[in-house]
Amino acid sequence: MSIRLLILLCLITTQATSQIPTDSAAFFIKDIYRQTLAEEKAYSWLTTLTKGIGPRLSGSEKSIKAIHWAKATMDTLGFDRVWLQPVMVPHWERGEKEQVLMITPGAGVTELKALALGNSPGTGSQGVRAEVIEVQSLDELRSLPDEQIEGKIVFFNRPMDLGLTSTFSAYGGAADQRTSGPVAAAERGAVAVVIRSLSTRQDDYPHTGMTQLSDKIQNIPSVAVSTNDAVVLSNTLKKGKVELYIRTSCQMMEDALSYNVIGEIKGTTHPEEIILIGGHFDSWDVGEGAHDDGSGCMHSMEVLYRLRKMGYTPNRTLRCVLFMNEENGLRGGKAYADSSFANNEYHLAAIESDAGGFTPQSFGISPGAETSLDSAMSHMSGFMELLEPYDIELKAGGGGADIGPLKPKAGVLMGLRPDSSRYFDFHHSGLDTLENVHPRELAAGAAALTSLVFLLDQYGIGE
Ligand SMILES: [Zn+2]
Repeated sequence: MSIRLLILLCLITTQATSQIPTDSAAFFIKDIYRQTLAEEKAYSWLTTLTKGIGPRLSGSEKSIKAIHWAKATMDTLGFDRVWLQPVMVPHWERGEKEQVLMITPGAGVTELKALALGNSPGTGSQGVRAEVIEVQSLDELRSLPDEQIEGKIVFFNRPMDLGLTSTFSAYGGAADQRTSGPVAAAERGAVAVVIRSLSTRQDDYPHTGMTQLSDKIQNIPSVAVSTNDAVVLSNTLKKGKVELYIRTSCQMMEDALSYNVIGEIKGTTHPEEIILIGGHFDSWDVGEGAHDDGSGCMHSMEVLYRLRKMGYTPNRTLRCVLFMNEENGLRGGKAYADSSFANNEYHLAAIESDAGGFTPQSFGISPGAETSLDSAMSHMSGFMELLEPYDIELKAGGGGADIGPLKPKAGVLMGLRPDSSRYFDFHHSGLDTLENVHPRELAAGAAALTSLVFLLDQYGIGE
């Protein structure tokens, strides 16, 4: 036992009776792991969610089906309260399968594997045909004269940097092409945009994702092509002039009524302090949203389920939140925070699991508006030693998109960080299916999160 843990133990045993000694905590965590790994509850729920319902894009019929399934499931778990929180969400539909044809004078016509980017307008039934110009970045686009861009299809082809250890950093370094590329190209007179899929694999699967729209100019159709087809297109361009024909029928519909799904176990000694664990329940319409973010949602349900099943009576209020619309609007996260602020709530900790159902490695932590990161980390590193046997660390920096809006009235924001090696092989593509989630890795994440919530409930975040 370290000095720090010993000091914490002494403090705890002389303090409020609601806190248990750390040696008891260590035994309890061992039991959390034993039960979670053996039962694989999150995986059995994920199976129903992915195979029984499927993808859950905001505003879609399946998203509503999933919402009612999650509420009905939580209703059977013995929580104190389960409810739906209404929120209006964007409703974008992909429509018919995209057609992207590469036309070259010498080689004829080649079909490229493509997906429209989320929120993108469609091309209309006529499609768009134009010459292609390749760039590696938004900066390169800005440096080109108007006459090289006007009337063209801009092809953003900068790959993710595979030399980085964190694939999230690699994604962050390439994602501006998808999020901002189409508007930047439209502003310069381009007629459509193609991006190289944001993927860590060289394969035939296109990856979609949200693109931002402008309310000042006419938005243009945008698609992602597979990494293999990005190479084909780039190599063909090196030989001469290339045209693309793109036909998509996606469209933005009227906003639709949807819901966050919330389950709660009321605290006994500090019910006014909330510990939130959540993920986002919407997913892209391709694949099954298994890693992104069915895994995080099932993790979150399991935390409350497991603690209740083990007969644990929390000091603080524990809340599981399945947020709607992270992928193309973040309306669920904003609606939750608005309602929470209106009710004068305080979140001692808000934790998000939205990095896949892979082997957990660490928790990232960021301070709320009035918390010092150093003091929270030094307090928490005392009890986080109890997770050392499970190879879980605490690291500075972390949180999640859905819990971000809670920052002004939260103690700390935290995010689960699993092994990121394979996440972007699957992310936002047809490969994000149950088959690519390992039951034991998913369970290990659920056990780590349950242990963290238990520890925060027992020992708080310090001053
Ligand atoms: Zn996600």
